[in-house]
Amino acid sequence: MRQAARVLATALCLTLIATLPARAIGLLRDPDIEYALNTIASPILNAAGLGSRVQVLVVNDQSLNAFVVDAEHIFIHAGLLARLQNASQLQSVIAHEAAHIANGHMARRLSNMRTARTAAGLGLALAAAAAAGGAGGAAAGIAIGSQSSAARVLFAHTRAEEASADQAGVRYMVNAGVNPKGAVEVVDIFRGQEALSVSRQDPYTRTHPLTQDRFRALQGFAAAYADRAWADSSSADYWFARAQGKLTAFTRAPSWTLRRAKSSITDDIRLMREAVAYHRQPNAKKAIATIDKLAAARPKDPFVHELRGQILLESRNFGAATNAYGRAVNLAPNDPLILGGYGRALLALNTADGNKRALAALEKARRTDRYSAAVLRDLGMAYARAGQNGMASLVTAERYALNGRLNDAALHAKRAEGLLPRGSAPWQRAQDVLTAAKAAPK
Ligand SMILES: [Zn+2]
Repeated sequence: MRQAARVLATALCLTLIATLPARAIGLLRDPDIEYALNTIASPILNAAGLGSRVQVLVVNDQSLNAFVVDAEHIFIHAGLLARLQNASQLQSVIAHEAAHIANGHMARRLSNMRTARTAAGLGLALAAAAAAGGAGGAAAGIAIGSQSSAARVLFAHTRAEEASADQAGVRYMVNAGVNPKGAVEVVDIFRGQEALSVSRQDPYTRTHPLTQDRFRALQGFAAAYADRAWADSSSADYWFARAQGKLTAFTRAPSWTLRRAKSSITDDIRLMREAVAYHRQPNAKKAIATIDKLAAARPKDPFVHELRGQILLESRNFGAATNAYGRAVNLAPNDPLILGGYGRALLALNTADGNKRALAALEKARRTDRYSAAVLRDLGMAYARAGQNGMASLVTAERYALNGRLNDAALHAKRAEGLLPRGSAPWQRAQDVLTAAKAAPK
């Protein structure tokens, strides 16, 4: 699991409490957790007519929130993922956000924003969100009107939108064969918060205004379907436990994880949680013994080999790490985060052959996933080692742009522009960064 650098600004705290400074947040990028979330989301997204074009991403924030900023991503805070109790609750959160997308609640807001469009055209919708979020380094101050009102327009939904998203969300769940009582359970977590002062509310309450009416309406929907027979949920339940187990193993104290790992629903989830906890203690010997046991039990699981690669790499066993990541890549050749880890291990070898293979793996990763700051950072190193300074400057510019640091991005894009063949595709990418930076007022 990697914590991508500051990627977008937290919508709400910034927005509704205008006096607080903007706070940049990052994404937790983990191929295992993202695979799990997207497996859990898939039947819901299909029912919403969104199919596989929507990706579920985890925000590195322990408060409770879920939100959308464009039509292609659903963001869930790590805190909410850790707090939910079962897959159907998570599916209800995803169904509700999918309804905001399907009903056009975000598109309408974004299309009003010229700078957001520019950034989205670059594939930098996340940077646009950071910019919309407010002031400060990460935001670079793109002019879209008063910060607090702009961000409020972007992120907070109206009560009418909430009612329609609840209703559509329940419909998606029912059509996907998922019991919608999870939606009632989730809203129940936040009940009573509207009576709290804004600073004590969870951000979810501020993005998604809760009312008694909303709760009662959801109860009514769920009751109407109470007698249905539902699809088998064992696969969703497994992936939920696995995603939550891995997330908490990386974010909670190792002692917390080790106390609870024994009650995991399967042995492989228990071993994974224990391996991560030992790794973070750090106890390399126990971590490696545990992850080896897990890899023997699940030889065809790419994410197990990826985690094994990470543990070995961070324990400075570079050769063994490269082999473990290589195995993961063989099992999942197109997963950009696994390719990113493989590239990082190859760079750690620091050999001519390793550098060459790292460059190929990291370029492939970047082409399929533009939101990994870690991949862009490693790719910059790979290009620098290959003596391709124009490309090194370009991906550095793109990494800064992703992080919302458009002034720094422009500096490196300018350097790239001077080094790359005029009119080439990479030269054009440098132009795109410069255009986005120009759209931001100084
Ligand atoms: Zn909502």
